[in-house]
Amino acid sequence: MSDKIPLAGVVGSPIAHSKSPLLQNHWLRTYGIEGHYIPMDVSQSDLKSVLEILPKIGFVGVNVTIPHKETVLGLADLVTDRAALIGAANTLIFRKDGKIHADNTDGYGFIQNLRQNAPDWDAASGPAAVIGAGGAARAVVASLVEVGAPEIRISNRTRARADALKAEFGAKITVYDWVQAGNMIEGAATVVNTTSLGMVGKSEFRVPLDGLSPDAVVTDLVYTPLRTKFLEAAEAVGCTTVDGLGMLLHQAAPGFERWFGVRPEVNEATRNVVLGL
Ligand code: NAP
Repeated sequence: MSDKIPLAGVVGSPIAHSKSPLLQNHWLRTYGIEGHYIPMDVSQSDLKSVLEILPKIGFVGVNVTIPHKETVLGLADLVTDRAALIGAANTLIFRKDGKIHADNTDGYGFIQNLRQNAPDWDAASGPAAVIGAGGAARAVVASLVEVGAPEIRISNRTRARADALKAEFGAKITVYDWVQAGNMIEGAATVVNTTSLGMVGKSEFRVPLDGLSPDAVVTDLVYTPLRTKFLEAAEAVGCTTVDGLGMLLHQAAPGFERWFGVRPEVNEATRNVVLGL
């Protein structure tokens, strides 16, 4: 095998559902780069040895997905501040000096998606309401703090996870009981669903949206379906809505750039490839 053809991929288990190979191989073709991006089903017990072998056989880096996003922090030589803060990494760069560099680009993807699809959105214009406090919520909260949201309200079915976010991210966070989730939406400038509610095969999203202002920018991390009931309800109120697919596309761009040397564009063609259109 030639060591001149760069290889990258995504490491997780299960991995068959991942959209990353479609997306990254589309960018490789678009920019005429001779490289490959491969899905790899890797068990927890094999993760360490796989990460040792991959750089030796031509890999320049990988994306990391469930269930390895937290574990890889302990296997990397360098961890960015944002990955350390979030407590998970989704992008690894295999450096020429043999060191593994771990980053988390989910928060970047979240913010870029809003900036691209709701250009007038200003995080600083009012409180953000974050529904859910799982892994994805950590990246969302970290990025909202970074871009200057003045207050971040969080409500989660399991309150302890929301309290843990408050303990880590500090004074800007206000925690609401799950039964009060509807109340925290009142007066919010940004409203985000970070739960899996509303996703195909999962429970319905039932948080009351009575307090939603038409001036709010509303986004859902769920992107199957693309137009969730949550987004439809927000649209009916008159809000600007942004679906979750753009976050997936934007979080992938920094990895592609680090591995292959070109900053890829996220546009209609990128969306269509991932949607299979
Ligand atoms: P996770 O760590 O498992 O967290 C799941 C979240 O959903 C928790 O807040 C959980 O609450 C809540 N939840 C699940 N079932 C619920 C129910 N029946 N009632 C109330 N709350 C419920 O998962 P994650 O990684 O954060 O992912 C969350 C969602 O975001 C998924 O749909 C995922 O596909 C999506 N996502 C999208 C992107 C993107 O690029 N668009 C990126 C990352 C994630 P508890 O804590 O009480 O269990």
